[in-house]
Amino acid sequence: MIPKTRTEKQLTSLSASLSPIKPEVFTWAEQHIFLKWGVLSRSKFYCLQCTHVWKPSCEKTCAKFTTCPACAGKLKMMPCNQVHFKETQYLAVIDSCAGFQVVRMIISQKLMKKNFIPTYFHKEVMQHWINPKGEVRTLALSTNVFSQTCDAWQFNPPLEIKPKDFSRNAKYFINPYKVYPQIKVLPILKRNGFKSSVYDIAPHLLFSSLLSDPIAETLLKARQLNLLQYYLGASRQHIRRNWQAVKTVIRNGYKISDVSIWEDYLELLRYFNKDPFCGKYVCPENLGEAHDHLVKKKRDLLRKKKLQDLRLEIEKAQKKYASDKKRFFGLLFKEKELTISVIENVKDFMMEGDNLGHCVFTNEYYDRKDSLILSAKIAEQSVGTIEISLSRMEILQCRGMKNKRSKHHEKIVNLLSQNLYLIKERMKKRMKTAPLQ
Ligand SMILES: [Zn+2]
Repeated sequence: MIPKTRTEKQLTSLSASLSPIKPEVFTWAEQHIFLKWGVLSRSKFYCLQCTHVWKPSCEKTCAKFTTCPACAGKLKMMPCNQVHFKETQYLAVIDSCAGFQVVRMIISQKLMKKNFIPTYFHKEVMQHWINPKGEVRTLALSTNVFSQTCDAWQFNPPLEIKPKDFSRNAKYFINPYKVYPQIKVLPILKRNGFKSSVYDIAPHLLFSSLLSDPIAETLLKARQLNLLQYYLGASRQHIRRNWQAVKTVIRNGYKISDVSIWEDYLELLRYFNKDPFCGKYVCPENLGEAHDHLVKKKRDLLRKKKLQDLRLEIEKAQKKYASDKKRFFGLLFKEKELTISVIENVKDFMMEGDNLGHCVFTNEYYDRKDSLILSAKIAEQSVGTIEISLSRMEILQCRGMKNKRSKHHEKIVNLLSQNLYLIKERMKKRMKTAPLQ
């Protein structure tokens, strides 16, 4: 992109005035940011660090790491055998220039081949320029437009200024594996709490936040590093919402072992109306235990409430059911071990449904105006549920376990058919007494 605005022109020219990355940075990177590698090929180990080759004892061939007998390097084993091997890492050099905080990003590659000493490649691919207000502008190399990640750098032409929102584009967000230890920062960053470590946070994100966001500054000064990482991750809104509790944490010098569990725990405290200012609640000695305790407490409470609701619902339904069907209560037909009786309580509908695994309760059969529901039992055990149409005085359905036909089906139907007249009599009784009501 051709620099157009005053800032873009200024940064392009300042960037050109920076001295190239010093060779000692690359030497440091070669020693500190890469692993040592080995590969198993045709039953031999190859050290890709020192070119040593040896025959392994058979039990060691599947280990993740092995030690080279020549250079004593702890070698990570390459997952597959090929000719060329490559490890890619990013490192950052932190510098300041003309009142800007500068983060220079370098891609470093270790290139390896069996029987050869590794070679290295380093290239500066990006520069973040951060002004004292925390605004970031970025210069970067171009990348292959078809690539999903930004690793496909085109190493020519040089760095160029990128659009304003470039540093917020997830594709180009790089958190370097390491930061070169010699760093130069603006005095205002020191004033805002920065000492020397970036705590695994992308440096440009940390610096721009420290310059523009008092919450980041407060968290860093209080050395609440878990919270700071979490906050600068993707959870700014959460921390802002829980700011009172965070202040309590800071005041108590409490260290949160797992921030997302802690946030869940705060939700639970809120549910139980516990004070977010109170260290006793907000800073539990054992967060996991405290969290699990409240989860259980809430679950028990909800269960109790549900049962209570169900009980009230059943009580209400019972009143209506009794007034609708009372005239049939007490009906019982018996033949040998089989008894059939009218279900008299709504809670017995629930039991019947539970015992036989059908929906006589859930589908509120007790509320059906034209139906009478009876339960057939053998030795006190339900074996079938029967629905009778009162207007037609006939059996609508007779269901056993899980709505299947019971093996006592014939017996049940016979016994009931013989006694339908008794049900009919009770109907008449109602009709006779009706005018008196
Ligand atoms: Zn070696």
